[in-house]
Amino acid sequence: MKARVKKQRRAISLHSYLVVFMLIFLAVVLLVTWLFQVVLLDAVYESVRRQDLQRAAERISTALGQENLEDVVFEVAMDELVGVLVYRIDGNRATEIASENAAVGNKPFFISPEGMSELYVRAEEEGGSYQAKITFGGKLVEHSFIESLFPNDPGKSDSLATPEMMNLLYVKISEDAQQNQYMLLLSTSLTPLSPTVNTLQTQFIWIFGILLALAILLTLPISRRISRPIVRMNEAAKQLARGNYDVDFTVEHGYLETQELAESLNFASQELSRSDHLQKELLANISHDLRTPLTMIRGYGEAMRDIPGENTPENIQILIDETDHLSELVNDLLDLSKIQSGVRCPVMEFFNLTVAVREVMGRYEAFTRAQGYHIRLETDGEVFVFADRNMILQVIYNLINNAINYTGEDLSVTVVQTVRDGRVRISVRDTGEGIPPDQLPLIWDRYYKVDRVHRMARMGTGLGLSIVKGILEVHGAKYGVDSTVGKGSVFWFELPVSEPPSPEPGRA
Ligand code: ADP
Repeated sequence: MKARVKKQRRAISLHSYLVVFMLIFLAVVLLVTWLFQVVLLDAVYESVRRQDLQRAAERISTALGQENLEDVVFEVAMDELVGVLVYRIDGNRATEIASENAAVGNKPFFISPEGMSELYVRAEEEGGSYQAKITFGGKLVEHSFIESLFPNDPGKSDSLATPEMMNLLYVKISEDAQQNQYMLLLSTSLTPLSPTVNTLQTQFIWIFGILLALAILLTLPISRRISRPIVRMNEAAKQLARGNYDVDFTVEHGYLETQELAESLNFASQELSRSDHLQKELLANISHDLRTPLTMIRGYGEAMRDIPGENTPENIQILIDETDHLSELVNDLLDLSKIQSGVRCPVMEFFNLTVAVREVMGRYEAFTRAQGYHIRLETDGEVFVFADRNMILQVIYNLINNAINYTGEDLSVTVVQTVRDGRVRISVRDTGEGIPPDQLPLIWDRYYKVDRVHRMARMGTGLGLSIVKGILEVHGAKYGVDSTVGKGSVFWFELPVSEPPSPEPGRA
């Protein structure tokens, strides 16, 4: 046969989970930092400088044709640390009208006329601006024509920037308000970042080491602190499973969630203890209740067998009454267990609730006449409901039975039927001792007795209200009790009113 129990994967402890999580988090943070600070540093730096050049060219363009052009060129060169050359284009001629150089390690350009015209053509082709990455000294970087900008004249080359220094060149063709054409040439050096990168790498190793040590130092105690209350509660839960209901789940230095969990578990263990207690009491009560009539039956039976003249109709009636009582008890127990286990499901039908109440009251007619009880029904009309008729009859029967058992000396019981907001409420009122408020929620438990005196011989089976509760709950009905000590109690339940079923056509 195939094993049906699914093997559970062994979970890792919260403590290890937190440590691993922290280390992974640290690794990700460091990786991202390393990527940006070391690997991508050159690329990011270059892109920033390209934007600086474009911004500088835009600013200068706005001052073209104005008298303060040279001031603006100076200002922009200083702000952005770039070299600037401004040419005015008249036909084929280009005249330098302003220049400034604030680029670190960047010396004034030397540009051959061919180079100039080539740059102009490129910029025009590319929509007015052109960018290139070069090293001065004539070394080609991106485009071969740039070589022509810097002829292999050692003298000229010397006048340029350090040969290894990488530079960005930005060319922009622009016009002033009078539509005169200009060519702006901007350059900036890309300071080699390798020494910076080396510094950062060394720093990075230190940062990594320090963060790793910090992470371990902090995570270990924190994760232990987080997992400790849970471990403690787990130990307590094991004790609870072994039947120790006095176990306390409260933990010191817990956090909100563990405190709430501890409260819930403490409540659960109290409830378990109560239910265990009730279970034991239930067993004791059932045995007691079964034994009482059995002892009576046996006693009377023996007397009738052994003592002449005891075989009277009254004694036989006692035997019959006691067996009736026994079967009532057994039936109630069966009913209760069927309702509670869900075996007995309600069979829903439309029926006249008022008629059902009258029917139950009718059962007591002979009894009330003989004993002097007054059972009244107050109603202002007949009401239909959709429910399990037999179950609802059992509820009404149990409530009236209790009211008769517990009512006061005036021996009166009143059943009131009221309809409100589409719901009908049946209240059974007595004038008895009432029930103390602290006992009210408990009376619906099996075998719960307010006065703890087992009065079953005279009264019900001690299961009546549990059966009432079970039946009303499977109907989803509201129910309750209002009681004043010394004045009496009102037990009530509510059901939705239903329309009486219309007679089938053709059957009139
Ligand atoms: P019992 O057979 O003992 O009446 P029930 O389950 O019907 O069992 O009721 C549980 C307990 O609730 C009773 O023992 C009694 O203490 C209390 N009780 C029920 N109905 C009334 C009532 N009408 N007046 C006062 N106490 C009541």
